[in-house]
Amino acid sequence: MSYDKNNIFAKILREEIPCKKVYENEYVLSFYDINPQKKIHVLVIPKGEYVDLEDFTNKASDKEIVEFNKAITYIVKMLKISNQEGGYRVLSNAGKDAGQEVPHLHYHIFGGEKIGRMVF
Ligand code: AMP
Repeated sequence: MSYDKNNIFAKILREEIPCKKVYENEYVLSFYDINPQKKIHVLVIPKGEYVDLEDFTNKASDKEIVEFNKAITYIVKMLKISNQEGGYRVLSNAGKDAGQEVPHLHYHIFGGEKIGRMVF
């Protein structure tokens, strides 16, 4: 699937539409999900144009991949939901069977309460 520059997260990255920002650096942007499924529900996206995890792994630089993973660890500490502080779940949907709605790679981070079954 080719990257659609008009997807909603691309618009957020271009600041054409607002978001409730959690964290930002040169490589990633993190913001609260507009329709939270748990007490804490944030999204983390790379700033580069990648559709999903496969696209990211195939095309992104090692630096982007490392920084994306490091950002997740940083954000869970920021939100005080690290493994030491209660814990969290990371989830990324890819493609139609998973129900991916926005075709720009994003990881959901859930926490702040018991998250429940692995697939909900
Ligand atoms: P997915 O189904 O994995 O593609 O998840 C897309 C997520 O993006 C959903 O949880 C939506 O609630 C969320 N979402 C859609 N538009 C926005 C927006 N403008 N700001 C924040 N989150 C959004």
